[in-house]
Amino acid sequence: MTRIFKMGSYAGNDAVHDQPTPGNLAILTKVDKLRELIGTKVALPQLVVVGDQSSGKSSVLEGLTGFGFPRDAELCTRYATQITCRREIEESINVSIIPHADAPPHEKERVKKFHRTLKTMKQESLAELFREANDAMGIKTSTKSTSADGINLSAFSEHILKIEKLGPDEEHFTVIDVPGIFRKETEGITTEGDIELVRNMVKNYMKDTRTIILAIMPANVDPATQEILKLAKKADPTMTRTMAVLTKPDLAIESTMKNIAIQHVLGRRSDLSLGYYIVKNRGPDDLGMTLEQGQVKERIFFATEPWSVLRNTGRAGVFALKARVRELLVDLIKKEFPKLKADIVKERDGLRSQLDKMGQSRNNQYTQRAYLNRMGEAFQTLARDSLNACYDNDAIFDEQHELRLITRIVDESEKYSDVMSKNGHTRPFESDGPDKDPDESSDPTLARPYPELEDFDCPELEGIFDPSDVIMPTTDKKGDIMGYIESVYKESRGQDLVPISNTVISAIFKDQTKKWKPITLSYMTKVIFEIHLFIKEILKQVCPDERVREELWDGYLLEGLQKSYRVALDQAKLLLKIEREESPMTYNHYYNDNLQKSQAEHFVVALEKLGLEMQAPVDTKHTNVRSFEQGTFLSKAVLKALSLNMGNSEYNLKLIHDILKSYYKVSRKRFVDVICKQAVNHYLLRGEGSPLTIFSTQMVQELNEDQLDMIAAEDAPVKLRREKLVRDIQNFDDALKVLRGSG
Ligand code: GDP
Ligand code: MG
Repeated sequence: MTRIFKMGSYAGNDAVHDQPTPGNLAILTKVDKLRELIGTKVALPQLVVVGDQSSGKSSVLEGLTGFGFPRDAELCTRYATQITCRREIEESINVSIIPHADAPPHEKERVKKFHRTLKTMKQESLAELFREANDAMGIKTSTKSTSADGINLSAFSEHILKIEKLGPDEEHFTVIDVPGIFRKETEGITTEGDIELVRNMVKNYMKDTRTIILAIMPANVDPATQEILKLAKKADPTMTRTMAVLTKPDLAIESTMKNIAIQHVLGRRSDLSLGYYIVKNRGPDDLGMTLEQGQVKERIFFATEPWSVLRNTGRAGVFALKARVRELLVDLIKKEFPKLKADIVKERDGLRSQLDKMGQSRNNQYTQRAYLNRMGEAFQTLARDSLNACYDNDAIFDEQHELRLITRIVDESEKYSDVMSKNGHTRPFESDGPDKDPDESSDPTLARPYPELEDFDCPELEGIFDPSDVIMPTTDKKGDIMGYIESVYKESRGQDLVPISNTVISAIFKDQTKKWKPITLSYMTKVIFEIHLFIKEILKQVCPDERVREELWDGYLLEGLQKSYRVALDQAKLLLKIEREESPMTYNHYYNDNLQKSQAEHFVVALEKLGLEMQAPVDTKHTNVRSFEQGTFLSKAVLKALSLNMGNSEYNLKLIHDILKSYYKVSRKRFVDVICKQAVNHYLLRGEGSPLTIFSTQMVQELNEDQLDMIAAEDAPVKLRREKLVRDIQNFDDALKVLRGSG
């Protein structure tokens, strides 16, 4: 009688805790909803069952959830299993796999495809289902160690098997079963590496502060020696979220062993603030017994000596355990809600900003065109600012000084003008003085006025430049222009009184300007490189997406750029040809001024000679001798006698030289200006077809639908990423609604 009474009171005790209060049920429901939405991204309050292999974890879990793992030695837990019970009208078991976050994408995709639904929990169908799940996870068995496609299978997996147990009588509850720790490998199945892998997995599942640890250990060994408690202590140093659960009390035969277990449960030997619990599950001999039958047996067991001393502790039996676990979970959840909310908001905002960075989605021609247009505009703005030296408009001009384009071009042009002025001529003109002697050995800029082509590393522009264009001609006779003029003159003179034909001038001029071509084309090359690098760099700025950039560059921009560079170079070559090879011509009065100045210089020389002769006193009144520089008085008679004192041919040579010298100066200045203004400024910088105008809204306008799609469509990974972000954000938003009670 007493015994029955005791059983009754025990059952009654349980009944009080058997169902959660409506408030608690609501909270547990909330957490399950959150787990659905964001469970893989934010740590939620949860319960994990850990312990050694075969300590009885799955059995405890079955007691808590009613979900029974198939009893098949082959199918012992090889991955974490999350079991969620939920109240639904229809009874069913849904099984799927939550992929491990670090798994390669194709594997994630593969395991995500696994979905099974069972209407009832029949042992055979469950065993079949688990075999399929193991297969999907790539778990090896004693008979199968490689997959169909030859990949080595492993004994354990870090994916999570998700089991939803739905039914009208279910209460919301989630527990995670983690593979058991083991210390010896099994030939052909587990390796030493697996031992460590599982230990790490267990540690990982225990570490989160929102996790309640159910440390399972058999009652027939002393808990003090249990490794799992040591691991739990590391994860939970204050031992405030670790609960020890003793199993297999029926296997504790010796009374000392039983006593140790009882002392722990009574809290007399416990260092855990949550304490020890004890349950008796079905053993290997209870194969035919249902869960309910097992639970009846458990009650009877704890009602008998010596275990009956535990009857009022609320710590013996699976129902007591479940009630306590539920309470703990609810407390933990309540405590964690504010922090959880903050975490969710933070996480969601992070995702939102990632999505913002990706810009608008580009799945049709309108969004694609808009996307490219924005880029084109940004490109034009940067180009304009760099041309107008508006360097304050964008921080990039401070960060990268090489992007201050116009400043660099002005520097380069000045250098060009300078080189042309100092070293452009083949031979120095007379009376230019020895300092202007273009001695190549003394002036390195002459031999190599600009970096040579190899100095630029840009294979894509190789076809545009002809290296022979920038080779400096070797000058045979250094310096002697008169000698050269004489040789040309002698080769071509006729009987004319005026000996100077345009042909002679032309020929000498062409030779005198031989270096213009390499100097000018080097300058052009340098400018083109500057512009090219500039365009490449700002394109990176306006189009950070590498794939789109490459598509734009290879498919559209590069070709256009090459063309515009060629046009500019051709222009420079044309100008060279016009200036050097066509008949000399100018309306510039400086030509005459220069010529007259040169001629005047001959008179000065002649006068100088006269002045020297006049140093002898001719007039007693002016006996004081004055040098020529001080000024000399000349009588009309003396002036009439003045003669340049040159032979015809010397006179002619001097005249040719003077004409050439005046014309050269006028021509050089005109040429340098026109190169800078026309070939560079117009064709390379500001003109309609300049390379800087190539990427514009105009160009985007001309793209057809296919081209747009080719350049601007998001590739599959980007699309997927965006879709995933959108989904995740939605889930976080929904999770917040759930937390606020409005979802
Ligand atoms: P797991 O490997 O930790 O998940 O352990 P299981 O729950 O699969 O149990 C391992 C073995 O111990 C099974 O054969 C169970 O029937 C048995 N077992 C579990 N709990 C008890 C118990 O309380 N008493 C007895 N006699 N056997 C148990
Ligand atoms: Mg197990």
